[in-house]
Amino acid sequence: MIFQELNIKAEVIKALSENGIKEPTSIQQKAIPLIKRGKDLIGKSKTGSGKTAAFGIPLLDAIRPRAGAQALILAPTRELAIQISGELEKFGKYTDIRIATVYGGVAINPQIRAIARADIIVGTPGRVLDHLQRKTMILSKLKHFVLDEADRLVDMGFIRDIEHILSYTPRKKQMLLFGATLSREVERLKQSHMNHPVIAEAESQVEEEYLEQYYYNVEQKEKFSLLVHLLNNEKTDQVIIFCSNRFMVERVSKNLKAQNMKVGMIHGRLTQNKRLRIINDFNRGRPNILVASPVAARGLDIKGVSHIFNYDLSQDPQEYVHRVGRTARAGETGVAITLLSQRDHGAFKQIMHNYDMNIRELEADKFPYLKFAQVQVLRNNNRFGRNRSRDNRSYGRHRPQRRNRY
Ligand code: ADP
Ligand code: MG
Repeated sequence: MIFQELNIKAEVIKALSENGIKEPTSIQQKAIPLIKRGKDLIGKSKTGSGKTAAFGIPLLDAIRPRAGAQALILAPTRELAIQISGELEKFGKYTDIRIATVYGGVAINPQIRAIARADIIVGTPGRVLDHLQRKTMILSKLKHFVLDEADRLVDMGFIRDIEHILSYTPRKKQMLLFGATLSREVERLKQSHMNHPVIAEAESQVEEEYLEQYYYNVEQKEKFSLLVHLLNNEKTDQVIIFCSNRFMVERVSKNLKAQNMKVGMIHGRLTQNKRLRIINDFNRGRPNILVASPVAARGLDIKGVSHIFNYDLSQDPQEYVHRVGRTARAGETGVAITLLSQRDHGAFKQIMHNYDMNIRELEADKFPYLKFAQVQVLRNNNRFGRNRSRDNRSYGRHRPQRRNRY
């Protein structure tokens, strides 16, 4: 999914994309449409999952410049308030929306001037209340009231201040409450100040109870050696090793064979019949290691897979979820292990952003260095004529064989 599909105004999309933000994270996908529809909402997802933009984007989308303070965002600390304003400034760069940041411990006069012109106010509760009592902040036009890190606001004893601030706002407004965890105390706010709130929660994409996910940081030239080491030392049942393209599938599988390992291989250049036969064999454990390109394995019902190895990652973060979903199926447990070298870090960062998953780093113990032989893979050996598979199409676009030359 991309931001355009969320129907956000072009100025905001442009600024987002300049900041490298193209696909909404899970919480953003859920929260933004609901916020746009005017719902009161409770948004819950882990730290780093993009909650600021989840409320910030629909606010920037909805607010009309110079029509008085229409949104108030409360945050527990000054640092957080500054951070939120910073994000809104970035994403609102091509709008005329003005943002005031209001917190204690600094002179009040510059804030008064900023508040007078602001469309959005971000602040800590104490100083916001101070302004309200001095009548240097008027919230009669307020349309959106946001509590970020609602839990922490409550934990830090701000609940009375928040309720006091609320008494200065119009009854009819949208209430948004965000946090990584939302405790019972937040319930009170919900009961007394929210109107049939909907809950947007970034649930895990995989059955985390059953799936353990790990990654190793490894030099590219040692990746293969680490893979072999892990295959030799992990207690595995059926294993799928995913590579992002056919060329790597062929290389890895040939190199594993050179280590006397019995492996099958599947990618989109193989005929449908051949692929089916390989899957059937693999299902019966002959052999019990399959090197696969993700598209070839997508949607196939493969049972008893105890381990998924990601030899490398593709650019599409969603694919990770598809890959690891091959294990820990139907109540079985599974392990997903991703080998990251420099070139995978970008893709991995995207995965961590987009999905609410717990992937832990492991340190490899010593392992012997093995040679990873170059294997000649012909690029245009289109042996199957016009029967071009989806894998082939993706080669055409990404040309991984060029990028991955080594
Ligand atoms: P949270 O409040 O959930 O802890 P933040 O809102 O602070 O998370 O976002 C964490 C980081 O992710 C920020 O640097 C933010 O700019 C970035 N980010 C937000 N949304 C996206 C997205 N859709 N794609 C990529 N990065 C994003
Ligand atoms: Mg946050």
